[in-house]
Amino acid sequence: MTQDIHGSRRQFLAAAGGLAAATVITPALAQGTAAAPSLPPLIGRSTDTLIPRGKVPRVVICGGGWGGVTAAKYLRQYAPHLEVVLLERNPVFFSCPMSNKWLVDVVDTAYLTHDYLAVSEKYGYRFIQTEILEIERDRKRVITAAGALDYHYLILSPGIRYNYEAWFGNDRRMAEATKARFPAAYIPSAEHFRLKQSLQDFKGGTLVMTLPPPPQRCPPSPYERACLIASMFKHKNIPGRILILDHKDGVRPIGPGFRSAFEELYKDIITYVPNAHVQEVDPFRKHIKTAAGDFDFDHAILMAPHQAGDLAWKAGVVPQAGQGKPGGWADVDPLFLHDRNDKDVYVIGDAVGFVSPQFAFYPKAGHVANRQARIVARYIAEREAGRTPDFALPDNLCFMMVNTQPQEGISVQFDYKVNDQGIIEQRQMDFNERSPATIPEDFNWARLIYEDLFS
Ligand SMILES: Cc1cc2nc3c(=O)[nH]c(=O)nc-3n(C[C@H](O)[C@H](O)[C@H](O)COP(=O)(O)OP(=O)(O)OC[C@H]3O[C@@H](n4cnc5c(N)ncnc54)[C@H](O)[C@@H]3O)c2cc1C
Repeated sequence: MTQDIHGSRRQFLAAAGGLAAATVITPALAQGTAAAPSLPPLIGRSTDTLIPRGKVPRVVICGGGWGGVTAAKYLRQYAPHLEVVLLERNPVFFSCPMSNKWLVDVVDTAYLTHDYLAVSEKYGYRFIQTEILEIERDRKRVITAAGALDYHYLILSPGIRYNYEAWFGNDRRMAEATKARFPAAYIPSAEHFRLKQSLQDFKGGTLVMTLPPPPQRCPPSPYERACLIASMFKHKNIPGRILILDHKDGVRPIGPGFRSAFEELYKDIITYVPNAHVQEVDPFRKHIKTAAGDFDFDHAILMAPHQAGDLAWKAGVVPQAGQGKPGGWADVDPLFLHDRNDKDVYVIGDAVGFVSPQFAFYPKAGHVANRQARIVARYIAEREAGRTPDFALPDNLCFMMVNTQPQEGISVQFDYKVNDQGIIEQRQMDFNERSPATIPEDFNWARLIYEDLFS
């Protein structure tokens, strides 16, 4: 009897973790000849099953940014019988829209951050904070740092990556140094905090901003950022000069509105340099060579070209460049947003590639990502109901603050329709006149769209 009790206690300890035994370094382990120590069962490994296959079809959403969060909520509303899992590496949602205002203290951090768990509980989807490592299309499986899970439908909303290869080839040291010292802060991450701190510490001198070539995330926002930093320099008497090195031949969109802000409000602070194709960047010597000249800088916001986020590449939805279409973005059906060869894999948000010979790419905007997410959620719900979905198109609306004292802004709006030839057409309206009336509209837009994602 005594022996039994001791025996089952030993078994229980082993089953419940076996930590004491497993972590003793035996001579065999030290020499690397023994099996690796077992882990407590709830510490996930990428080889474990994260969530077993259930009885209902599962939608796995990769990336919990503007597209991903919206898709999760609307899928639960349109097709409540589906299991929905949202995978995201960040612990909290950090909004890039409105973040230029945060850089200069017009809004605070709480304004930009939102709670993933609260919204996932409210709408009944599963939020898992983990790094997505691989996507196995042949097995319909997503591999994460915490384990693997199968999908029936996959929605990719991975945002963008910085194409440092265009500047440095495979020189990781240069890429890492550039990212650490002169972050672009265009991807929700610690970069934003790094940039904000560096601006607060900036005592004066030349601040260079390189602007990526199109297509890029939120094309007007670098000009907004330049204006707001210039406004901060002006009002804090910081002897700073901002050099905007633009790949394009002119400011677009809302060009006249931004140009008049540069000239009328920040004449001694902002210098705009068009056609400044970046040729060499040296983050150690603080030197940049462009097609429009060479420049030394004291500080910089170095934005490398943008491409679809890493996950789109890992999922195999990014083709080589060719046939007149620039590479680096997901090749999707322009109307239904699924991978050309796989109707169960959708791509939404900034990662979406060429959609029209008239305007090429949708603006890479949170507003568009939100609209595409709702549209794709509807497509999946219709398919699940046994119906063939009708296509729907997004719209876009974007407000840019160009002055802080007084607060003034400009804006741009886009509408889309399909013409008789089946081509998507874009209509763009720029509102170039700087006006305080744009500011409440901007904050109202942000309130409504944050509510759409999180309330
Ligand atoms: C300064 C600035 C200002 C902007 N202003 C506006 C504006 O005023 N209006 C507007 O509409 N848009 C604006 N935008 C653009 C907007 O931020 C993007 O268009 C929008 O975020 C795109 O949504 P998305 O879902 O495609 O990508 P994201 O919102 O970037 O979401 C992608 C998510 O995927 C996650 N992810 C990626 N890889 C992995 C992985 N391997 N594992 C786990 N998670 C992963 C990321 O962490 C991220 O949360 C602005 C952007 C910037 C930078």
